[in-house]
Amino acid sequence: MNITILTAFGNNYIYLLEYSPGRCFVVDPGDAKPVLEALESQRLKMTHVFITHHHADHIGGVSSLKQKTSCEVMGPDKQRMPGLDTVINDGHIIELGPIAVRCISTPGHTATSVCYYVTGRPLESPVLFTGDTLFVCGCGRMFECDGQTMFESLQALGALADETLVYPGHDYTDENVRFALMFKPDNEQLREKLTLVRNQNRSGQPTVPSALSEEKQINPFLLAEDWQAFASFRRKKDDF
Ligand SMILES: [Zn+2]
Repeated sequence: MNITILTAFGNNYIYLLEYSPGRCFVVDPGDAKPVLEALESQRLKMTHVFITHHHADHIGGVSSLKQKTSCEVMGPDKQRMPGLDTVINDGHIIELGPIAVRCISTPGHTATSVCYYVTGRPLESPVLFTGDTLFVCGCGRMFECDGQTMFESLQALGALADETLVYPGHDYTDENVRFALMFKPDNEQLREKLTLVRNQNRSGQPTVPSALSEEKQINPFLLAEDWQAFASFRRKKDDF
């Protein structure tokens, strides 16, 4: 199964997953242009759009994509997501051909943020689209929720299968790994990760996906012992 990684606005990721031959869905199309180009070059029909949260850099391309395709737009927040066709929330499962997309409510970055957990035979590992909730070696800022809420959301993601591949909404990996190294300067795994990420950045490769098993070992926000420790890390990261 083919996942195309598109970029927009410098560090946003947009994902296109071909779930059966010639048919795909897109996650968080902040910009329509790279999506339309990919659909044309790969001759794909986009049937669905999944939105993780209402921020403009994640939904900016929706109206244009709706005009040009007959896609169905799915997301959690009718009021703040113009163009939404179907409201989905925690536990909703959308079956598309051989795969299932499960919506997981993860308030924290925004009050209505969700992640999408994709499973099914054609996938070698489950796939998790995390928007601005979980990043590689980091997590999103808390704009509308407190530390306990976001901590619990991240813990719920951490409980998913180890082999899950994490596809976040932004590439902040270099910065995140440097932040984690501040607290564990001698951690060999983090140092190797920084070298890898810098090589990827230099050669123009994405730093995603990452395995959830690796996140559980190096991501300071998943490793936090309790929500107070998590909130303290998050405040320090805000000023990093
Ligand atoms: Zn956001």
